[in-house]
Formats: sequence, C-alpha cells, structure tokens
Amino acid sequence: MPKVAIQDVRRYAKRTAAIIVGLLALLAALATWAWHQRADIVDSGLHPQVTDGLPDTAVTVTWLGISMLLFDDGETQILVDGFVSRPTLLESLTGRPVTCDAPMINYVMDEYGMNRLAAIVPTHSHYDHAMDVGAIANRSSASILGSESTANIARGYGVPEDQIVVAEPGTQYGFGDFTVTLIPSVHAPIGLRGEVPLAGTVDEPLELPAPITAWREGGSFSIIVSHPQGTTIVQGSAGYREGALDNVQADVVMLGVALLGSLGRDYAERYWQALVTSTGAMRVFPVHFEDQTRPFGEIVLPPKLIDNFVRTATWLQAIRDTWDRDTQLLLPSFGQRLALYPEQAPDA
Ligand SMILES: [Zn+2]
Repeated sequence: MPKVAIQDVRRYAKRTAAIIVGLLALLAALATWAWHQRADIVDSGLHPQVTDGLPDTAVTVTWLGISMLLFDDGETQILVDGFVSRPTLLESLTGRPVTCDAPMINYVMDEYGMNRLAAIVPTHSHYDHAMDVGAIANRSSASILGSESTANIARGYGVPEDQIVVAEPGTQYGFGDFTVTLIPSVHAPIGLRGEVPLAGTVDEPLELPAPITAWREGGSFSIIVSHPQGTTIVQGSAGYREGALDNVQADVVMLGVALLGSLGRDYAERYWQALVTSTGAMRVFPVHFEDQTRPFGEIVLPPKLIDNFVRTATWLQAIRDTWDRDTQLLLPSFGQRLALYPEQAPDA
C-alpha cells in the first residue's frame, strides 16, 4: 500500500507541476500579446507640424523624444531635459544599474548641432528627463539649471561646480536673447496608487551606474522659455498647480501627456485649462506620449494597457474645441526644426 501511495503522490506532483508550467506559459503569452497591443499614432487625428524654408532668424525647437527639446535662435541654444540613453524594458523592470550611453550622446549632439548650448534645464529629475544632463553638460560649456536634485545628478557625473546653477523659483535667467524661468509645479500623480512615482530628492552626487529608481523627482517645474519673438512653456509631466501660471502669457505649450489617460478626462480638462487656457497659448504640442523603453529616435506608442495616446488626443481635441477653439493642437515631428513663432520671425 505505501508503495502505491508514493507513486500516487509522484503522479499528482507531476500533474500539478505541468499545470503550473502551462498556466505560466499562458500568462507569458497573454502578457506578450497585451504588450503588442498599441495604438497607431496616425489614428490620433493630430497632424505633424512641418516647417519648410525656415528663415535664419526664426526661433526653432527640435523635439528629440519624451520632453527633450532643443531651442535655438541661431545664436544661442537652450536644451530642456536630456534623455538619450534609453534603459531597456528589462533594465527598467529589474532595476539593473544603468549608465549614460556615451557614443549615442556624442552622435546626438553632433547630428542635431548642439554646439552652442548655453543652458540645460530639466523639467524634473526623473531618469527620463535628467539621465543625460551631466554627460551633455560635460561635452559643452552649458550651465545646468534646475533643482538641488538636478545639481546632484550633475555633480555625480563630474560636471564642474561653476556649470551648476540651483534655480531660484521665479527668477529670470538670461542666456543670449533667451530668458528661462522655472515656475514650481507638481508632477502628475501617475503611480499605481495615485502617488507621484519615484518621489523624493537626490541628496548625494548620483554616481553611475545606478538603477533608474535612483533618479528621484526632486520637484517639478513649468519651464518658461522666453525670447523677444515669443514664449514657450514646457511641462514635462502632466501635473499642474492651480493658479501657478496666472501671470504667464505664452504662445506655445509643449504639453507632457504621459499617462494622462490614467488620470481621467476631467483631470485632463483641468490640466489643459491650467496650461493652455490660462496662458492664452495658440499652439500646443503634446510631448512625452511614446514608449520610453525604445531606443532614441524610435517613436512608438506604449501598449494600450499602459497608456493610450489616441484616446488622450481625442480628449484634448474635444477640450480644445470647448475652451480654446482657435488654438492649434499639433504633433511635433521627431528631430525636425520647427519655427516656434512663424508670424514673428523677420525674413532672413
Ligand atoms: Zn517624471
């Protein structure tokens, strides 16, 4: 009898193991399938902005993915954010230490002509905004302007102290004909439990390699980039502070929309009003809508399971039609110089 019992137990254990393996395989297949369910950007109904025949005197912006933006007036360049190294999905999920991709940073700075950088200004200190600011600063003479956390990211990369400026909120910093102002804002509450993900500060020089969780938010800003030709607001994350921009008039808003869909349409409407309606902007470019685990230059929407930009774009168009009928809602074209204030630029 005991012999039979042992055989039974073995058979039972084998069957259970087979069922578990089968279930795991099914789960993996489901997860893979869900990961590949992505909306197509052309379905957003938004049209890419294309600028032909730029006058030399135009103030331009080049969108380099997420909310990395290169402003240029032909003499001075301002870079908002620095995110060229793209930790992979696996590195993001496992917390494997990552470091800056030096060859890629060299390529990007050369390819997009970043040779007159005066300032590098991260919207906040998460890795997808500030990971490469130190590496870029070290390849230029630009000042890094941001929070104390941003300063510690720069210090960890060995950026000389005289290139690091901890910004006084609301103070206007002049770089050539540009004026840059950091207005305290808040990060979007897009964590799983409605919290700000990776909140907190970077309190020590951030030495690399480090897991992506080492880049803490460190406070978020609305970045106001002003020029005699016009004013642009960059909002890296879809957070807003009621009334914070009441005294700001803008022509263009670069509107961070990552995970805006998870916050609901009502939130999206309040966000729009705080950034666009209150500032009178006539052109809005959504940014930070693509899958940030893809290599630099690959613009692919995230899995619908995580974020659906097509639905967000539908909301934004309806909200625009309600509040700001004459405001244009446009897609930025990756890596292309766009004239920010075409009506202002004197002919070359
Ligand atoms: Zn963030």
